[in-house]
Amino acid sequence: MNDCIFCKITNKKLPAKIQYEDELCMAFNDIHPKDRIHILVIPKKHIPTIAYLEDGDEKLMGHLIKIAKELAKKNGCPGYRLTFFVGKEGGQEVFHVHLHLIGK
Ligand code: 5GP
Ligand code: ZN
Repeated sequence: MNDCIFCKITNKKLPAKIQYEDELCMAFNDIHPKDRIHILVIPKKHIPTIAYLEDGDEKLMGHLIKIAKELAKKNGCPGYRLTFFVGKEGGQEVFHVHLHLIGK
């Protein structure tokens, strides 16, 4: 059984304010926003951290960045931060890869 909360969100077992979805990824509002815009862009595929990326994941990861860029534009962010926290020591709390889009 998969107890990952972000897998539960992609499987619609947990609610989230979804901003975007396609076959590869989903983007939803962070539950504790750090700024006006705080969206998490995640792959639908469960990858625990960036450290677990494999050959062949390059396109998927580029796709996350492209979707984050489009959501920043859609939400009128003049500038923004795109961040991955990697591992417990890097500040990661949810072990399903997610790209933070944070902007004013
Ligand atoms: P991390 O430190 O792992 O990069 O960040 C995890 C992020 O997920 C945090 O900013 C936290 O607020 C957010 N988060 C944790 N649980 C949930 C949840 O159930 N729903 C949503 N939408 N965001 C969550
Ligand atoms: Zn997961």
